[in-house]
Amino acid sequence: MSLDGYAFSRPHLLSIGDLNRVDVELLLELGETYCSKGPYDQVLDGKTLINLFFEKSTRTQTSFEISGKRLGADVINMAVENSSVAKGETLLDTAATLNAMRPDLLVVRHGSSGAQALLSQKVSCAVINAGDGAHEHPTQALLDALTLRVALREQGRDLTGLRIAICGDILHSRVARSNVKLLNMMGCDVRLIGPPTLIPADAYQWGVGVYHDMEDGLRECDVIMMLRLQMERMSGAFIPSKREYFHYYGLNREKLAYANEAALVMHPGPMNRGVEISSDVADDPEVSLITRQVEAGVAMRMAILHMLSEREASA
Ligand code: ASP
Repeated sequence: MSLDGYAFSRPHLLSIGDLNRVDVELLLELGETYCSKGPYDQVLDGKTLINLFFEKSTRTQTSFEISGKRLGADVINMAVENSSVAKGETLLDTAATLNAMRPDLLVVRHGSSGAQALLSQKVSCAVINAGDGAHEHPTQALLDALTLRVALREQGRDLTGLRIAICGDILHSRVARSNVKLLNMMGCDVRLIGPPTLIPADAYQWGVGVYHDMEDGLRECDVIMMLRLQMERMSGAFIPSKREYFHYYGLNREKLAYANEAALVMHPGPMNRGVEISSDVADDPEVSLITRQVEAGVAMRMAILHMLSEREASA
């Protein structure tokens, strides 16, 4: 697909708030073209992409690597644990060092909210936020929207008016924050479901419905997005026990039946089976989009890299 010179209005992808509806529609369209098998135009030929992950990742880091390579970029995965970061170098010094090597694209995951926004002011390449603390994970929300767009078309509908429940540990979830922004922008009816301890105090201002009971919250939902309990971000006890949590908030067949008949199930991964979702739901290809989310992840990241490099070219 030719972008005809269209490019992001901003030089980085730090937050869903950086995008307008036109950006998102174009990204989804471009992402859909990258869902097909290659060969692909080598639009990143001669470009260098550095993956800089300060937090663990399976899907995001690998999919950025594959996406970059499929489009012809040279991809470098910086092993943070073997780098000077382990010797005490600050984020900004590391960024300045990498910047001096003149990469074109820097994909960064960091445990602190806003780390990439700070870094983007210090480097001369495009910065992509691959997750900053509990703040945002914009590429996840975009790949989720792409997954839904393709799956919903099979049901003869689109995202407009879709009722979607995001369930579980909303408080610590960057996936939830990015998805709420994007799904609201696309005209969806978004609900959050979780125990009061795991719903942020200001969620009532996010333009969503808030529920603490799965039966109430899932009623008439078309899509259910389950989230992992982010134990690594919890200090103290937010739930009585994982067993009890599964009893009230874990998605199994019984709770799935509260939603609409053809309801679809999503999860950004990694999943904790038997904690937030049962295996028979997660592994049922009739309802689960989880593997399709991973597939769409590569396509959407190809689209993001392509769009950002297009901006560089036109800058
Ligand atoms: N992979 C997602 C993230 O990095 C979700 C999760 O870890 O639970 O935020």
